[in-house]
This record gives sequence, structure tokens and C-alpha cells, in this order.
Amino acid sequence: MIAEIISVGTELLLGHVIDTNSAFLSRRLAGLGISVYRKTAVGDNLARLSHSIREALDKADVVIITGGIGPTEDDVTREAASAALGVELVEDEGVLASLRAFFAARGTPMPESNRKQALRPHPHQGRLIPNEVGTAPGLLFEVGGKVVVCLPGVPREMELMVERHVEPYLAQLVAGNEGGGVILSRILKTVGIGESALESRILDLAHGRTNPTVATYAGRFECEVRVTAKAPSKDEALAMIDQVEAEIRRRLGALVYGVDDDVLEGVTGYLMTKAGATVATAESCTGGLIAGAITSIAGSSNYFERGYVTYSNASKVEELGVYRETIEKHGAVSRPVAIAMARGAAARSGARIGLAVTGIAGPTGGTPSKPVGTVHIALYDETHCTVVSARMGFPGDRTSVRLRSTKTCIDMLRRHLLQHWTVEIACSESKSHPAG
Ligand code: ATP
Repeated sequence: MIAEIISVGTELLLGHVIDTNSAFLSRRLAGLGISVYRKTAVGDNLARLSHSIREALDKADVVIITGGIGPTEDDVTREAASAALGVELVEDEGVLASLRAFFAARGTPMPESNRKQALRPHPHQGRLIPNEVGTAPGLLFEVGGKVVVCLPGVPREMELMVERHVEPYLAQLVAGNEGGGVILSRILKTVGIGESALESRILDLAHGRTNPTVATYAGRFECEVRVTAKAPSKDEALAMIDQVEAEIRRRLGALVYGVDDDVLEGVTGYLMTKAGATVATAESCTGGLIAGAITSIAGSSNYFERGYVTYSNASKVEELGVYRETIEKHGAVSRPVAIAMARGAAARSGARIGLAVTGIAGPTGGTPSKPVGTVHIALYDETHCTVVSARMGFPGDRTSVRLRSTKTCIDMLRRHLLQHWTVEIACSESKSHPAG
């Protein structure tokens, strides 16, 4: 099956916005075994866009368009798609009512321009795609054996729509084209390894294999491995995925932290709850980001005791009991200080575990021996009398260094729990799933 992608928006042509949407779409289509032959960027112009859609339809079975489905006058994707396909759009009463309700809830009448967001193809020519996070639904046309999908431009809305609605639809389309059956995918989520290192560990699985296919994707400071299987039935597809997943896990071990919708903070929180452990954080360069990430998970009050943001040397001494001499001798960004902060956080709060970070986020403050990106993280475990520490050299700007530090700290906690709290976790699991 062949696809083309069209990104819509004059801002893309002017270079004000980088077209990340088409990169995302390419990766997802590749994961489904759909070949992308061409990508185009077009401005907000009805005639030029419908011409591009017609051209794409000449060559491709599926045309995916992102952007231009908002309410403003320059949002012309709906009209361009219907013109290129020669089909009419009708107003969807249900969508119109929910748009009106959306504005009523905000105390304003719906602007007339929003009305076009309720336009959809006739039921025998396609349908709307729900938008769970924005007002504009997507559109899916099925006309003359061709498929045209119109998606929002806002990346988060577009990605969610693809994951929830478009991918499952296209997977079935591919399966149908190839003689029936189902296509299922599972995403293995990893942290602490780059995409090329990850790929090199599973190279033989990722290349030269057609079913299941194995592909890697780089995310934000994480990487994913997507396993996609095609089989006559769901159970058979799942069994094929299970087998490849087991092999990938054997090779990657604790680098894999979860699957599909799992997030690192959530998985770590689950382990904390099972272990019955508690944690306090002591943060310098991350300024509270770690506490923020941990408490983004519902139920974190069961295991998160408190967070100290100790930016100055004085606060490290006063709040955490770090010795002034330790800071003077080794510097605030050093292994001894990180460990003392972790110990101090546990001791002062009464939490079983103290988690600490101190580093140079930049852009200033680096030295030849401690360049920008030098970050020391430490974990102190009162219950197991254990200290774990690491010196990291993170690349990137200030934001990247801070976010990478946050992720690495939480991952250190996760790995520590897996290694040292296995008995507690196992006991609590057997209590929640009693044998027999
Ligand atoms: P709405 O008008 O409701 O915002 P839309 O579907 O009309 O949605 P656009 O107006 O085309 O979307 O784009 C909205 C924003 O989404 C853009 O300003 C830009 O920040 C981002 N965006 C659009 N297209 C892309 C793209 N191809 N890659 C990355 N970001 C994009």
C-alpha cells in the first residue's frame, strides 16, 4: 500500500514552524508496512492544496493531510479534499450541537466560522474522526478505492487521533488488502539508551523481518520499540508479539520499563506502592521537576513524602544537613554532595529513600573539569543501607539537561526498586492476587 503525506500551512513554507507532523506520520505508516512515496508542504491556499491532493491521489492509495482543519478562513483542508475527490460535505448535527455546547460552557456564543468544523462526508463516502483534545474532528474519506485522511495541525491532537483512530483503521485496511486477518502492535518503552545503541542490540530482529516487524523510534529522552504482527486472528497475532517481546526483553533487560501507554513515573509509582516504600527528593539543578514528575501520578501521596528544592549552598546545609566542608572540598556539583543531599532528604523527612540531584544545567557555570551538562545523581536507601550514585554528562541546552536529569533520577529509583525491593513487591503482588 502506498501513501503520500501533505502538510498544510503557510507557516511551514515560511519556516516559522518545523514540519514534525509528517515525520511522525512517516514513522507510524512505516510501522504499518505502508510505503510513503512523497511528502509535500502546501500553504493555506484552496486551489494549490486541492491540486496537490489530486496529484497525490494519482499515485497513492492513502493520502494523509495534516493542518488546516481549524475554524478560520485560511483553514481550507476540508474544502480542498472534497473538491479534489469531487464529493460534497454535509453538516453533522451531533458535532454542531457539541460545538455549541463547548462554547456555551465557556459563556460565549459559537462564532459562525466554527460551523465548518461540523462538516463531514456523506456516510457512504467517509466519516468524522473524533478529536478528544480539541474542537476540530478529523475527516476520513473513502472514495473510489482511495482513502484521504484530514488531521489537525496541532501535534498533540494529530498524534492522539492517529494512535487512537487512524492507525487501527489503516492496520485493518492493510490486513484486508493482503487477504484478511488482523494487524496488532505493541510498543516496548525504554529509557537510558539512545536509538542507535538500542537498534544495534536488536538489529537482526529489526531488519530483514517482515512479520512481526520490529522498528525503533526515538522519543523525548526515551526510545520505543514497536512490534507489529499480522495473523489470521487476534490471538495468533498476540502470540507472535509475545514471542518477539520476550526476546527483546531478554536482550534489553531493565532498559524496558513498560509497554504501550505506560509512563516512567507511573511504572515507578506502581513499584513504590507495591514495595510500600516512601521517597523524599532533594533537587538543585532540576528545581522541583522531579517532585513535579513523581506527583503527576494519581496516588503518589502513598509514597511521595516531600521535596526539597535546595538551590543555594546555604540551603543544602540548612535544609539537608550537608556539611559546609563537603561542599567547599568537592564543590556543590559532586558525588559526595549528591549523596549527602540524598541522605539528608531521607533523614530529615523520615522517608525510606532519598533521591538527589545536583548539576550544571548551563549555559554558564561550566569548567573544564565540570562542563555544562555535568550532573550527579544519588539515591540513599535507609531500609537496605544502600547508596547508588552516578555522574552523567548530558548533551543539549538547559531545558534538555534538566529534563534528562529528571528522567534519569526517576529511572534510578525504578531500577533500585526492582533490584532491592523485590521481596516487598513480590509479597504485595501475591497479596493482591492470592494463589487459587
Ligand atoms: P487549529 O486551527 O484548530 O489550531 P488546524 O488543524 O487548522 O488547527 P493549523 O492551524 O494548520 O491546524 O496548525 C495549528 C498549529 O499546529 C500551527 O500553528 C503549528 O504550531 C502546529 N503545526 C501545524 N502543522 C504542523 C506540522 N506539520 N508540524 C508541526 N507542527 C505543526
